[in-house]
Amino acid sequence: LGRRGPSYLEGLNPEQREAVLTTEGPLLVLAGAGTGKTRVLTTRIAHILSTRLARGAEILAVTFTNKAAREMKDRIAKLVGSSVEGMPWLGTFHSISARILRRHAELVDLRSDFTILDTDDQIRLIKQLLEAENIDEKRWPARQFAGMLDTWKNRGLLPRDVSAADAGFFANGRGRKLYADYQARLKVLNAADFGDLLLECIRLFRENPDVLAEYHRRFRYMLVDEYQDSNVAQYLWLRLLAQGKPASEANLCVVGDDDQSIYGWRGAEVDNILRFEKDFPGAKVIKLERNYRSTANILSAASHLIAFNESRLGKTLQTDVAERGETVSVTSVWDSEEEARQVGEEIEQYQRQGEPLNSMAILVRASFQMREFEERFITLGLNYRVIGGPRFYERREIRDAIAYLRVVANPSDSLSFERIVNVPKRGLGDTTIRMLMETARLQNAPLTVATRMLIETEELKPKQRTTLRELLGQFDSWSERARAVPHAELAEQILDESGYTAMWQADKSPDSPGRLENLKELVRSMEEFETLGGFLEHISLVMDRDTVDAEDAVSIMTLHSAKGLEFDTVFLPGWEEGLFPSQRTMDELGRAGLEEERRLAYVGITRARKRARISVSQNRRIHGLWQSALPSRFLDELPADVVEVKDTGSSYGGYGYGGGAASRFNKMDPFDSLYETPGWQRAQRQQASRKSAGPMTIEGDLVARSVNDPGTSSAFKLGETVLHLKFGHGTVTGVEGNKLTIDFETGRKKVLDSFIRKA
Ligand code: ATP
Ligand code: MG
Repeated sequence: LGRRGPSYLEGLNPEQREAVLTTEGPLLVLAGAGTGKTRVLTTRIAHILSTRLARGAEILAVTFTNKAAREMKDRIAKLVGSSVEGMPWLGTFHSISARILRRHAELVDLRSDFTILDTDDQIRLIKQLLEAENIDEKRWPARQFAGMLDTWKNRGLLPRDVSAADAGFFANGRGRKLYADYQARLKVLNAADFGDLLLECIRLFRENPDVLAEYHRRFRYMLVDEYQDSNVAQYLWLRLLAQGKPASEANLCVVGDDDQSIYGWRGAEVDNILRFEKDFPGAKVIKLERNYRSTANILSAASHLIAFNESRLGKTLQTDVAERGETVSVTSVWDSEEEARQVGEEIEQYQRQGEPLNSMAILVRASFQMREFEERFITLGLNYRVIGGPRFYERREIRDAIAYLRVVANPSDSLSFERIVNVPKRGLGDTTIRMLMETARLQNAPLTVATRMLIETEELKPKQRTTLRELLGQFDSWSERARAVPHAELAEQILDESGYTAMWQADKSPDSPGRLENLKELVRSMEEFETLGGFLEHISLVMDRDTVDAEDAVSIMTLHSAKGLEFDTVFLPGWEEGLFPSQRTMDELGRAGLEEERRLAYVGITRARKRARISVSQNRRIHGLWQSALPSRFLDELPADVVEVKDTGSSYGGYGYGGGAASRFNKMDPFDSLYETPGWQRAQRQQASRKSAGPMTIEGDLVARSVNDPGTSSAFKLGETVLHLKFGHGTVTGVEGNKLTIDFETGRKKVLDSFIRKA
């Protein structure tokens, strides 16, 4: 080591250096965005490893995402090379907990190969329990209970810890018992849900002091990134692991920023940061005030904005970047389509200047906003990747909706029919669906046709027959309407009448509002096409796109998943009241909700190194009507001297942004938003955006035709004795195409020839 110390310390400022070198005792690094918190953690690990204070396996490091864990691993390897043995336990709270649980599974009544349930499995399991308890799922939806489970588990509560009052209202006082039954059932299935990973780990530690002691000996150093977003269970988990030593000697280092706490809605507790000094007396607190990421202008915009929050610890932030840099731009556009076009143009321009696509990101508030950008980039041939979720057209709700539309346009589309025949749930079990598919195969007919055949027989139970008859009736009616009703409107009717929209409305999981928004966005996007066929053709082409992730690509993601990341250029679209700040968050959490939204805006702006480009749409199309949108109140909270306002939208002229309260935005008559844009403008816009119709035509009458056609006549004769797979022996008393009437011992039944053998 040279006089200046090891190379990994070079370039760190004195506070960062102190945070790296203070390896013993509790340490809290409380600092704003881009001040090097994550870098400090990484360097700290490198330091511990290279000075041999501990081996890799003796270090526990918690990141917020798996991606962050991978990046940290790479950076540590770069800093210390491969000379040190073993890598730290590096991962999210959940991944590390899973690893621990697998090692001691038998102590929490699991086997080491236990399954981790996804949400769908979880819901199915709850439904079974509700049914077993004779609880009406319509009144007490499984999803609602899943939400309660989540809350309890985030708070570290086992069934016995849940107060009767807390669980009381669900199913009239049976919530707690259901929770206990649910947990017991998981054990039988050798499974754990996501929340269990932490909860069962906590139970493991509490009930097995010897196991906990083993980890106390093992983890000599613990580090946690993004501590402001930890929840109660995670806090308890950490506390237990830190208890190997007196609290004042725990080698626990947590880093965080109260201004970036954005998961309050999921049970995160900013208070964990405030409590740290109390729980770990004598903890050293280090503040980092130099921001190495963003230009002065970007930082000024972010600091100014977040100052409008009342509940904060208060920190100073100074930029280390010499130039003031470009101004933060606020561009007012006509609508989201123009927004996407604008962003696309800018990206291409930067690309021509030699900037890689990797250095650019689009951060949206709600996932439905992604569609317009994805479409634009596909048109432009610009590589993009969606981070933290599927691309728009790959989302489950979008695929379901498209499946309905495809069956309407093409009743022979068996794959689509199969996808939605029991979505929403129509009480058609696996056996029924297998029967439909089997018939389709044997009759060599599309699924809809096979279904039509079956419902005219008694192969299926009357209830299922009725259900299927109604569904086919609906499809007939939709196909009929497809000739007269504009297809976007038809799509909306289909989603409503099929019960698909209602399914997500009844769904109480946190992602269902987003799904409903995506469905609305899908309907909106249909308006750009002249025909349903044209729209579906477009979708096929878009969905069929090569999904291999290109090396160099623009990132599209939500603000939530952008935490901890940085990009040279950051686009922040959709800064409109209701969308951002989100009306839903404000309705649910009130003032606290508004502050959480503002922190999200702060996170968004501070992702930018060189450029932050905000946009606001003047109009949104809602239910086919153009409505003017109110610009986000956050725009008024940006300092005038660093913001440059552009208006590319047609109708209204220059706004006085940045004037704080003086801006006309928030004085705008709220009823403004009820005015519809004049028809001619609307028509003009549609003209401009309409894409050519595809070659597809509607084949709505195909089903009807196939069914009326008697088809090949049956190989069975009147009076013949036959064997039916389910009903046994009988005599043929009627033949009508492939449908037979047979006298069985149990009575006369109409059946399909596919299920009959010659006796
Ligand atoms: P966030 O709150 O957004 O998670 P952070 O505090 O974790 O931010 P980092 O991501 O660690 O900040 O650092 C931000 C950027 O500043 C990174 O590119 C990092 O490499 C750089 N950086 C950090 N410290 C220094 C330093 N002393 N000298 C030069 N660059 C630095
Ligand atoms: Mg960080």
